[in-house]
Amino acid sequence: MTGGTTLDDYTDRYAHRVSGMTASEIRALFAVANRPEVVSLAGGMPYISALPLDTVGSMIGELVASQGASALQYGLGQGMPELRERICELMADVGIDVGMGASPDDVVVTVGGQQALDLVARLFLDPGDVVLAEGPTYVGALGVFQAAQAQVVHVPMDEDGLIPAALSDALLEQQRLGKRVKFLYTIPTYQNPAGVTLTDSRREQVLDICERAGLLVIEDDPYGRLSFDGEAPLPLRARRREGVFYLSTFSKTFAPGLRVGWILAPHAVRDKLVMTTEANILCPSNFAQSVITAYLSTMPWREQLKAYQQIYAERRDAMLSALADLMPDGMSWTHPKGGLFVWATLPDGLDAKDMVPRAIAGRVAYVPGNGFYADGTGRQNMRLNFSYPTPERIREGVRRLAGVIEQEAAMRAVFNGEL
Ligand code: PMP
Repeated sequence: MTGGTTLDDYTDRYAHRVSGMTASEIRALFAVANRPEVVSLAGGMPYISALPLDTVGSMIGELVASQGASALQYGLGQGMPELRERICELMADVGIDVGMGASPDDVVVTVGGQQALDLVARLFLDPGDVVLAEGPTYVGALGVFQAAQAQVVHVPMDEDGLIPAALSDALLEQQRLGKRVKFLYTIPTYQNPAGVTLTDSRREQVLDICERAGLLVIEDDPYGRLSFDGEAPLPLRARRREGVFYLSTFSKTFAPGLRVGWILAPHAVRDKLVMTTEANILCPSNFAQSVITAYLSTMPWREQLKAYQQIYAERRDAMLSALADLMPDGMSWTHPKGGLFVWATLPDGLDAKDMVPRAIAGRVAYVPGNGFYADGTGRQNMRLNFSYPTPERIREGVRRLAGVIEQEAAMRAVFNGEL
């Protein structure tokens, strides 16, 4: 121990990159949101009870009995070759096929989509670099980019997803400021948190803009297969061989507890990615990868996917009709065609962040929109989840929320001397 510092004071010892880190508001919220008397529309969890857990349990038992020696062993940094082949089959289903240059050799298996994001950040971001991202965007991506000390600049969306003209403007503005823009991070399909999907024509425009500017595209696609009203548009990576990194995960189509995702990277950077992941985690779990490989090989996973789609579609419908029936004037929301979330906008003058304690007192929880922006905007918005609560709970939650908003609007009116 040196000159007077005690070993229980760590603040001066933190690295710069973590000194600005604060606990996610969403995490703090979950603690209260999970109380049984609260209807939580705040989470983002898949409805795992829809899985045939007994059958999955037997499959895992057999796996350990027959292949335990390899499934419980260390593995390759890049991930198991057999799973990487299966991943390529899955990607071929959505148009990212051999013709588009997708090969098991260029897939890196990750610990969920989250580690794929972390790898991309480690590979490309220096402090001060700019990342363009939709506004709002995935809170876990914000955490990764902030940890890399990058600056996130948001590009606005509407019901058709990212607005191409706004992307061009943002690029020009960053160039004018002399900033180094490293990539566009986008969740084009059933976006988290906004629930919107980038249209076909905009996909082409966005890709053209990025191509012209020499900007890499990080396409995060955890939800593309969770479609309710017909197929999702072709992923960006199915439209361009070069310049697009494609990230996905088994968290939403099978189970997040296994923590398996992947990244399809351009061949030229594959080795760097593998070295980065080895330095980070040595290798992804052989056990989790073996479970997924067995699941894809021996169980009717397409049927399971349909079951998830049907359950979520029913819940999406329950949420949209409850919102239409119960919400006061001046409130608006998105109409997702897949995924897990609706993004709602409060009547003018109301603040979703300030309203959280009153909502919790009213026994309903949501995530205020500011958590999905790096710059603290989004306070008039909230994210509502429909994948986890039952349709009855969703309606009850929306009923409670509508009551809280009406009260809040009335209080504001009194405050403003309107009543
Ligand atoms: N990207 C997006 C857009 C997400 O919504 C999530 C999970 N909520 C992830 C990545 C990470 O998911 P996981 O690590 O479970 O694969």
